[in-house]
Amino acid sequence: MTAPVLETRDVSCTFQIGAGLFKAKRPLHAVNGVSLKLMKGDVLGLVGESGCGKSTLAKMLLGLQAPTGGDIRFDGAPIMGLDRRAIARRVQPIFQDPYSSLNPRKTVGSIISLPLRVHRVGEPDEWRDRVEAMMDLVGLARRFTDSYPNQLSGGQRQRVAIARALIMKPDVVICDEPTSALDVSVQSQILNLLQDLRQELGLTYLLISHNLAVVEHMATRVAVMYLGRIVEENDTDSLFQTPRHPYTQALLASVLTPEPGLGVPDAQLGIAFPNPIDPPAGCTFHPRCAQALAQCSRVAPMPIADGNGFTECHLYNPAKDVAA
Ligand code: SF4
Repeated sequence: MTAPVLETRDVSCTFQIGAGLFKAKRPLHAVNGVSLKLMKGDVLGLVGESGCGKSTLAKMLLGLQAPTGGDIRFDGAPIMGLDRRAIARRVQPIFQDPYSSLNPRKTVGSIISLPLRVHRVGEPDEWRDRVEAMMDLVGLARRFTDSYPNQLSGGQRQRVAIARALIMKPDVVICDEPTSALDVSVQSQILNLLQDLRQELGLTYLLISHNLAVVEHMATRVAVMYLGRIVEENDTDSLFQTPRHPYTQALLASVLTPEPGLGVPDAQLGIAFPNPIDPPAGCTFHPRCAQALAQCSRVAPMPIADGNGFTECHLYNPAKDVAA
């Protein structure tokens, strides 16, 4: 069986947070034992509320943040010991905001060719050809080569960011809210472009998004993250048609508004997102869970396999009544 192109095994990232003068620091488990596999050509959607650990996980995959536990592997080989440049050849990001991720003082050609110069790929007299070929691929007219970011529209800037991410021919692209800063009218163009590029170049995506409609449209698999853990993972159809974890059910219910114009209804999660420095005992979702069992406040659930994925919830543990 082929190894996943990118895999995390029980990966954790814990920060020590100051609690005040004369008080000991306290651990914040931003990512807490996450195991994920990205198979070649997959689009793995990663969803969850702000502060759940998605961005910290993405930083670890990009080599920008060292894990405090577990293992990250490319093609089955640990990345431990690889330097930042070696990781950047394999995995590249596309960020949410093309306005702030592009240097306003550099031309489009200079921005797109930057990775070639940093990694000393090819000869300088080839770079312009490679930049123009990449601009063709992402649908950006060559006349913009000597333009500056402030002379482009939001959609054109995001095409520049995509070209810069792809010019090194990475295996994996981390798309962090790639369309949420764009006008609605250009969002679908950029999503379709990402889909076309994935097929044409054989790319694998980790798609981080708050927009569940985008995830449903793009992803082949979906992982739901809550307080640093993946609480449910499955293929996209199964997860959207029969969400199993109560948190996934609440997330989906929050966007399934029957009447256009009514806005996003309340997710029915009761209290607010808990403080990650002081997470609830047992299942960390239990204070917000409408289906909590007696043991949920005491015993942390284990992942329960389910067809193509798993759910981390006592409701699906055949021994749940015994443990109560
Ligand atoms: Fe709810 Fe218990 Fe499942 Fe947690 S383990 S999601 S509290 S039912």
